[in-house]
Amino acid sequence: MKKKLIAGNWKMNGSLASNEVLLHAVLDGMAQRPPACDVAVAAPAPYLAQVQALTAGSPLAVAAQDVSAHEAGAYTGEVSAAMLKEFSVRYVLVGHSERRQYHHETDALVAIKAQRALAAGITPIVCLGETMQEREAGLTEAVVKRQLAAVIHLNGHCISEIVVAYEPVWAIGTGLTATPEQAQEVHAVLRSQLAAATEHAGRIRLLYGGSMNAANAAALLAQPDIDGGLIGGASLKAPDFLQIIASAK
Ligand code: PGA
Repeated sequence: MKKKLIAGNWKMNGSLASNEVLLHAVLDGMAQRPPACDVAVAAPAPYLAQVQALTAGSPLAVAAQDVSAHEAGAYTGEVSAAMLKEFSVRYVLVGHSERRQYHHETDALVAIKAQRALAAGITPIVCLGETMQEREAGLTEAVVKRQLAAVIHLNGHCISEIVVAYEPVWAIGTGLTATPEQAQEVHAVLRSQLAAATEHAGRIRLLYGGSMNAANAAALLAQPDIDGGLIGGASLKAPDFLQIIASAK
């Protein structure tokens, strides 16, 4: 049985002081009640060294929120996969809807980023999901299939090395959550698309994200094709994040 994965996405939040308080609380909670799932937090790049230091030797994995599509060189402002690797980064988000939306990241760019991560030994968490407009137009399945298709054949790597996060854009940070049934329906579509590409589809973790919180996590995580969660707002509050971790059995 694959373990579920609960990944916090801090987004552009935190400070050295507040990160320390939050991490101590999460680590204490995890020590008191060892999780049955894998757990990670995706911190802003300047704090990766701090998260690396504070989580060393613990079961809390370091994640990053983005990675450059370039390997190295004259790319001002970019952070390479090799650099992330030096800070013990285990997972990196690629194609988060906020990056697709505000930084115009395309499916092709997201695929290159996933490739860069894998080449450095970092697991990409490929984020995808439809907007409300697309859902209302009946395009959900077509959109998520297109987004997943872009990463399904990664040169030299097996698709089973990635994690996929389904995050309906309309549910992110809005307090609107997909119902467990709505999420499961999309996850089943993604699973069968993966199954057509690899015999290992069953072991690829499909996370749900979008206003997952302490109250709704258990029902979402009980769905057969939901293998974890990508948690934004609720990952900034230790009790809520710990409650979600405890729901992932
Ligand atoms: P949210 O964010 O939990 O605050 O909706 C999820 C995400 O964007 O990863």
